[in-house]
Amino acid sequence: MRLSRRLSTLRVGSLNNVTRLRENIAAMPGYHSPQVDVPVRLNTNESPFAPPASFVNALVAQLSDVSWNRYPDRKATRLCSAIADRHGVSPSEVFVANGSNEVLQTILIAYGGAGRSVLVNEPGYQMHVQIAKVTGAQVHTVARRGDFTVDEDAFVDALRQRTPHVVFLTSPNNPTGLCDPEHLIDLALVESDAVVVVDEAYAEFGRWSALDRPLHDRVVITRTFSKTWSMAAARLGYAISTTAMVDSLWTTALPYHLDSVKQLAGVLALRFTDEMDERVAAIKGERDRLISQLRSFGCVVVDSDANFVLFEARRGTKDADSIWQELVDRGVLVRNCSSWPGLEGWLRVTIGTPQENDAFLGAMKEITHV
Ligand SMILES: *Cc1c(COP(=O)(O)O)cnc(C)c1O
Repeated sequence: MRLSRRLSTLRVGSLNNVTRLRENIAAMPGYHSPQVDVPVRLNTNESPFAPPASFVNALVAQLSDVSWNRYPDRKATRLCSAIADRHGVSPSEVFVANGSNEVLQTILIAYGGAGRSVLVNEPGYQMHVQIAKVTGAQVHTVARRGDFTVDEDAFVDALRQRTPHVVFLTSPNNPTGLCDPEHLIDLALVESDAVVVVDEAYAEFGRWSALDRPLHDRVVITRTFSKTWSMAAARLGYAISTTAMVDSLWTTALPYHLDSVKQLAGVLALRFTDEMDERVAAIKGERDRLISQLRSFGCVVVDSDANFVLFEARRGTKDADSIWQELVDRGVLVRNCSSWPGLEGWLRVTIGTPQENDAFLGAMKEITHV
């Protein structure tokens, strides 16, 4: 009797705990990318192609060798070696996690957090801001110029005045598709003591990589299997930096955070680099076709070094929201960026298969033909 009374007070108590949600999290809208059920989904920058059948077969065959009763290899030794081989670094210079978002979260737990601040250029990847806030840091933003290049004077001013602990660079940048210039890394290193994160989620489509520079204790390069590697479902990403930096990330991560199946999938995927390169080439070709077609319809399109394209969607009385809706009505889902800071009027389309791109272009032709 007494026990059940105590339990019921506890239950009431735990309801009240909701009001104890940290204020910065209570104030957040959360990640919002509507998943509308339409035939052509070009809204989240995944690869339109399934991974090679021989990859899937190899993974299925090896699943029976997994020691299911044991925790996974805590340091993901084979996977880190395979990634290190690909990039010509040492395995101790590789950190792996559940998607590059978890890599970013680990960096932000280690180097951001309460009482610290993070600097981003906007428009940029929304999750940099979101994860920085969830993990307690204050976020400072520098507005990009009208052509979406980084305003370097404003960037340097912010580095000096805000003295951030973590600075994000994204190249190629999402959602604009532009590569940021490499010397921004040097600017950030010289003008601040911050850890400089170079988010290279789309590097395989890009023009340069921070991996071609000597590694630096304060520079962390992040990559993902989600986009180029056709493995968004697996949630696998990694960071490359010096051993000292990488050690600090292992210390921060939960023990056994990366399951055995994912480690295996990553090792096997890296055996299919030729297939991956072919897919990247095919997507780039489609991207360039899509850009020139959109321009021929009179759209303003940002040049892209990624697997997506940002375009200004306004025609006559139609604004971006109505064009987005008209695309959905025709079975095509793109990302409506119009409510994001600095992006009013802009939509982002992921490059799909040739058939999907035809569906998108056909719909856009009708919609823009007022
Ligand atoms: C998609 C994306 C990621 C996230 O990748 P995951 O590995 O799927 O978590 C990271 N950074 C940028 C800029 C992205 O666009």
